[in-house]
Amino acid sequence: MRILVTGGAGFIGSHLVDKLMENEKNEVIVVDNYFTGSKDNLRKWIGHPRFELIRHDVTEPLLIEVDQIYHLACPASPIFYKYNPVKTIKTNVIGTLNMLGLAKRVGARILLTSTSEVYGDPLVHPQDESYWGNVNPIGVRSCYDEGKRVAETLMFDYHRQHGIEIRIARIFNTYGPRMNIDDGRVVSNFIAQAIRGEPLTVQAPGTQTRSFCYVSDMVDGLIRLMEGENTGPINIGNPGEFTMLELAENLINPNVEITMVENTPDDPRQRKPDITKATELLGWEPKIKLRDGLPLMEDDFRLRLAVPRKN
Ligand code: NAD
Ligand code: UDP
Ligand code: UDP
Repeated sequence: MRILVTGGAGFIGSHLVDKLMENEKNEVIVVDNYFTGSKDNLRKWIGHPRFELIRHDVTEPLLIEVDQIYHLACPASPIFYKYNPVKTIKTNVIGTLNMLGLAKRVGARILLTSTSEVYGDPLVHPQDESYWGNVNPIGVRSCYDEGKRVAETLMFDYHRQHGIEIRIARIFNTYGPRMNIDDGRVVSNFIAQAIRGEPLTVQAPGTQTRSFCYVSDMVDGLIRLMEGENTGPINIGNPGEFTMLELAENLINPNVEITMVENTPDDPRQRKPDITKATELLGWEPKIKLRDGLPLMEDDFRLRLAVPRKN
């Protein structure tokens, strides 16, 4: 099986590559423009005979021969996807169009990593896949959430019009080792701040909720979806729901100082996946609780920041 992973030098992509490379029958090709990803994440595979790394931007056509495509390429952190919003839309729309054109030409199955952001600031809680969402089409997050919504539309149109085999995962907040230290997302911010002895920046009001999935659970869900029979969309996420204040006060470090800072526009107030479909159709559920996953991520951050644990 020859497998393309777009965005494979990023956080989730590189963990997915590690898992796919465990199977000796797989050949893995990564395509990445290194906007938010890094070769460092794939260091152990560079030079491996079953592995290939290509610097390429998915907004440009790509001519290769593959059996499966995991299409992850897209910045995922708000600070990076808002940095050049037009580029983010191009990546979501033209990038997905190109990967679908490739899938059509070579007859490959393609999986898109969509996002819980397609539900916007949800009026239904928890969110199941039948909910159409509450999304601002002209806001500062729209390049990402509307971009992913168009990407989902393209996937289904190629499926209906050209018979392409598609899979859509709606990923909820994911955390773990290898996240960019300056990624700007809440878990990486809090862990880096706690290690550096800085106050944790809770964005007001702090009562907004998120549900955090450990990266190994996420990768397991993505592979099951790709190998299964269902197109999706299927939510992949951990239903454990926490407010940002709970995350800061109870889970990171009860003794650490908290500072309340201004929030960004259109921040969803609540988010929690209904994973009935993933459980019933893929036999998947997350195994790692937030309380157990955070220390694993802290170990990785301490290594990279060169700050050993005190005891
Ligand atoms: P990431 O930023 O670490 O990885 C994205 C990768 O895509 C990076 O390596 C980046 O360099 C690459 N990339 C970006 N634009 C590209 C382009 N035009 N051409 C080629 N490569 C490009 O993010 P991640 O957390 O690993 O997210 C991976 C996927 O999962 C994304 O599609 C994201 O939307 C989705 N997702 C992630 C989360 C999460 O919590 N991490 C939540 C929902 C959805
Ligand atoms: N494409 C690609 N690699 C391929 C085949 C197509 O990148 O192997 C791109 C192609 O450049 C086009 C897009 O995918 O922009 C959609 O291709 P499709 O064949 O569906 O549409 P068309 O080329 O007819 O517009
Ligand atoms: N957040 C926070 N402090 C930070 C970064 C983020 O309180 O330093 C909050 C943010 O307001 C949001 C939640 O954490 O309500 C999740 O934000 P993140 O950017 O991690 O992910 P997303 O908004 O994409 O779910």
